[in-house]
Amino acid sequence: MFTERTYEWGDGVFTLLSWFKKEKVKNARVLVAGAGALGNEVVKNLALFGVGNIYVVDFDRIEISNLTRSVLFREKDAYSNSYKSEVVARRAMEINPQIKVIPIVGNLFSDVGFGLYKSVDVIIGCLDSRIARYLLNRMAMRAGKTWIDGSIENMTGVVRVYTPGISCYECGLSREEFNNIMLRTGCADVVRMQGSAGRVATTPISASIIGAMQVQEAMKIIHLSEDEQAPFKTLQGKMLRYEGMTNSVNIYKYASWKSSCPAHEQWNDIVKADSLSATETVGNTILKLKEILNVKSVEINMRNNKFIDKIISDRPEKEFDIRLPESELDAYITGNEELRKLSYRTLFHKCFIENIDESFPYPDMSLKDVGIPLYDVIQVSTEKGQFYVELMKDAVIYNL
Ligand SMILES: [Zn+2]
Repeated sequence: MFTERTYEWGDGVFTLLSWFKKEKVKNARVLVAGAGALGNEVVKNLALFGVGNIYVVDFDRIEISNLTRSVLFREKDAYSNSYKSEVVARRAMEINPQIKVIPIVGNLFSDVGFGLYKSVDVIIGCLDSRIARYLLNRMAMRAGKTWIDGSIENMTGVVRVYTPGISCYECGLSREEFNNIMLRTGCADVVRMQGSAGRVATTPISASIIGAMQVQEAMKIIHLSEDEQAPFKTLQGKMLRYEGMTNSVNIYKYASWKSSCPAHEQWNDIVKADSLSATETVGNTILKLKEILNVKSVEINMRNNKFIDKIISDRPEKEFDIRLPESELDAYITGNEELRKLSYRTLFHKCFIENIDESFPYPDMSLKDVGIPLYDVIQVSTEKGQFYVELMKDAVIYNL
């Protein structure tokens, strides 16, 4: 029988810790990028600590092979092909019913609104590719947020903490690593089909240790305040490397911050528009933006995701109407038999629209359908200069 809850999570336990501030933890917002092995451990630990608002982003579904190192997944989740983020959220709230865990099934860059990045206290990266790290770093730096990166392989694991003004993932990339990322993401006018990322051999132990270290760092970041001396040392601008084969833990200085790096652009002075939502049509949004900003001309800059109008194959030369955000193009090609077959022997050239204004040919499409996620902040060029406008009407979906 369920009786009314009469206790508060952590009372008489965490409250004995000299550094622990219950209200801060209860009100904290943490974005967890990735719900794989590390994401499972990270969300589990955040839930145990009673972190009040957790957002988990992942586009993947659960497979049997995930069960060996994902504490929140069950066999039935793999059989039912469930989404990782949804199962992680549900199980974490079973562990601690006093918190909210909100799953986001999708991509970090094209499906998570920038408003959410701006609203969190800290971001935890549980990712398995350089490209994803590069993209997450861009968003975190733009939002002015610290992000805690974890990576695991075999019996080894690494935690790195990136904080704007101290260290940046992109600044730390070698030229070769950077060129590799650009090859896979930056080649804007040609479609390159790519296989999914290779599976990394790792163990549940590496995931537990590194996921635990990440949450410990997150708890420190949540507790940091300007007016008080911190009772702990953080890994900001450092890298911790755990080597399970030899039982060694080393901490290195790891702080690259170059003044020329394009990732350091911060979006501040945001106009909060209560009447705007990504579910609104492009046409109506342009009208509303003119009114809100009191301007005559409006151009929405598609900074994260371009709109693909058509693609043209080389051999045979043929045009295909697509009308999709760039982020959905690969899946579209894979799901379309003619295009999939063609993709093995031809290159597709993209005809895209980077800036949306009154001449946009599909004014009845919603912002979401052209590639702007819910609760995003859009960059708008006008005759009075550039504005950043937050789609506040969507904030409710994130419990904000
Ligand atoms: Zn940088």
